[in-house]
Amino acid sequence: MADQVRDVAIIGGGPAGLSAGLYLCRSKVDTVLFEQELTGGQAVYSPLIENYPGFPDGIPGAELIEKIKTQAERFGLETTTFARVEGIEDGGKVRTLLLENGQVTARAVIIASGRSPRKMGIPGEDEYTGRGISYCATCDAPLFREKVVMVIGGGDAAVEEALHLTRFASKVILVHRRDELRASAYLKERAHAEPKLEFVWNSVLAEVKGDKTVQAAVVVNKETDEQTEISVSGVFIYVGNVPNSSFVADLVELDDAGYIKTDETMATGVPGIFVAGDVRANQFKQVIISAAEGALAASSAQRYLERIGARKAYGGAAVW
Ligand SMILES: Cc1cc2nc3c(=O)[nH]c(=O)nc-3n(C[C@H](O)[C@H](O)[C@H](O)COP(=O)(O)OP(=O)(O)OC[C@H]3O[C@@H](n4cnc5c(N)ncnc54)[C@H](O)[C@@H]3O)c2cc1C
Repeated sequence: MADQVRDVAIIGGGPAGLSAGLYLCRSKVDTVLFEQELTGGQAVYSPLIENYPGFPDGIPGAELIEKIKTQAERFGLETTTFARVEGIEDGGKVRTLLLENGQVTARAVIIASGRSPRKMGIPGEDEYTGRGISYCATCDAPLFREKVVMVIGGGDAAVEEALHLTRFASKVILVHRRDELRASAYLKERAHAEPKLEFVWNSVLAEVKGDKTVQAAVVVNKETDEQTEISVSGVFIYVGNVPNSSFVADLVELDDAGYIKTDETMATGVPGIFVAGDVRANQFKQVIISAAEGALAASSAQRYLERIGARKAYGGAAVW
């Protein structure tokens, strides 16, 4: 594997990486994709995606991803799962991906590593993660049938997941640090109409307590400093995200929040390295944006290969 120079290596198997792979393989560009887990990315955590065009009744995130993956594989996308890229060495003409178990060299690289849920860093968080604390209601909601659970956050992800939880839990308490939800109007409307959903405003989660599993959450009102201990069996945390860019922080330019900067062609300041999707410094994080940026990064990578003479324009195998 280490001796062969690949045309394009993609890092990340979410909508951005898979779409880039689809476009490249359909153009017969030799492409390999590395994913640290199973392919899918964050979209698999969405119970129903209602805003991706082409699915008038919505589609579960996992199903949408499966379709994109099948489509990319039909054109020959080679995917390696459970392969985490730990760094990239820029060798000028080629770039080397450093993996846990070896290296892969490619002429161009597309970074589509997305982002991950932000941790709160409060007492009890590490101890009870997987034992009552979760960052994914879509994955864990069925474990809380007829139980009282808490959701932290007020954006789209928090509200979408709180609504999903109402299908299983007896009560869902949504704790938000402001006095109104930040979520989109449609989700807000549904949340306020849901009888199983209760709101605790102007408050933050301070601690999670329990024995073997979560038993209670301590919530602090920001205006009065009053602390309240609420009995819950589960706590679902949605307080933002962090970009998965640390493995290339010394190679490409990041913005203050750690997202990777590019020009409008998805190119970084390093020739041959392109970026697509949630990990990019763009203003909107959605499946449709990631898919579109994946396509654009693929097109730019292809043009780059042609420019450096590694590939004839309009197709053809690499010439070096
Ligand atoms: C609960 C929830 C609900 C959502 N609902 C919607 C919705 O209704 N509609 C919508 O449009 N969007 C929704 N989104 C947002 C959408 O899922 C994301 O915008 C989209 O998945 C981003 O795609 P991506 O490919 O850029 O990144 P990601 O989906 O984050 O995929 C990145 C992939 O890269 C992998 N990776 C990271 N680092 C490495 C590494 N070093 N080596 C190898 N692999 C790596 C990760 O494991 C991951 O699989 C939702 C998100 C969440 C969390």
